[in-house]
Amino acid sequence: MTLTDHLVARIRQDGPMSVADYMAECLLHPTLGYYTTRDPLGTKGDFTTAPEISQMFGELIGLSLAQCWMDQGKPTPFTLCELGPGRGTLMADILRATRGVPGFHDAARVTLVEVSPALKQLQAETLKDYAPTWIDSVADLPDQPLFLVANEFFDALPIRQFLRDGDGWSERLVGERDGALLFGRGPIGPQAALKDRLADTKDGDLIELCAAAIPILTVIAGRIASHGGAALIVDYGDWHSLGDTLQALQNHERTEPLAAPGQADLTAHVDFEPLAETTLACGCRHTRVTPQGVFLERLGITARAQALSKALSGSELDVLIAAHRRLTHPDEMGNLFKVMGLFPAYAAPPPGLEP
Ligand code: SAH
Repeated sequence: MTLTDHLVARIRQDGPMSVADYMAECLLHPTLGYYTTRDPLGTKGDFTTAPEISQMFGELIGLSLAQCWMDQGKPTPFTLCELGPGRGTLMADILRATRGVPGFHDAARVTLVEVSPALKQLQAETLKDYAPTWIDSVADLPDQPLFLVANEFFDALPIRQFLRDGDGWSERLVGERDGALLFGRGPIGPQAALKDRLADTKDGDLIELCAAAIPILTVIAGRIASHGGAALIVDYGDWHSLGDTLQALQNHERTEPLAAPGQADLTAHVDFEPLAETTLACGCRHTRVTPQGVFLERLGITARAQALSKALSGSELDVLIAAHRRLTHPDEMGNLFKVMGLFPAYAAPPPGLEP
């Protein structure tokens, strides 16, 4: 059975499904899902992420988190957590860059939140020297100081889409006709969660809601507020969304979101406003949402690139220069990707970010 067969059967039985249910099936179906069955990253995969582009990304994230840990009096032990660690590259770079920070590795309990068996295996190989623990959900994070990074994790969480119609909203749904998937619309009605968006939208606008992000942020912000720590959330997106940002990528090319269920990566832009509101509601603070390029420049990526360039020449040097540009330039990832930090009320914000 293909995932399309499974989805068509489900729609015939239960009726059209929300975009969120469609995304969840496509990404996480236990045997046919995109993340559950493969390694999607790198040049042979469907997309590339910042840590796969250059070691500099993870090194600077690691140093920012380690500085927070020192500023907060080196709490021991603490959880060093990554959400959605992919191949384990980012965590490996964080750990390598922080080797010289006295006490950091001894105090760190490396904890990975991952759903994909295929990626867990890769992470186990990459991080075998650091005895990581895997958990299925942030709800299982221990009650201790939490230093956390999430890069391109929240964009993989399922979103629902709503079209404004007068003062009501109609949900965009996935249905089927003759065994082919197609988009449709649900009935028009009020949506309590969207009442604040009547002011900044007009008839026909589409907006997106990511309900799954809120309980995750609640746990993270709660742990940091009560035990100390910091979090760096890096993703493409903005304060809040307007318009359809659901995107499918296959072999580094965009494809139609309904064209290849389970075979293409599906993501949506991350709205930072609800994440920020949840953070404050948990008694934790958040930084300004800062472009990735600005964040990395403040942490010294250019000096790091210059240091690395001394040992390189020819094509290796070209690769380094291209990576620096790709991570920081406003026309590449520098502006599209944003960083928001979480930190306790009594502590300084993570280096590279402003309160
Ligand atoms: N952070 C990595 C990988 C990003 S890809 C990097 O920057 O390279 C998204 C990651 O999130 C993958 O590891 C994927 O398996 C994981 N993931 C997606 N949805 C998830 C969920 N609901 N719970 C836990 N992990 C998830």
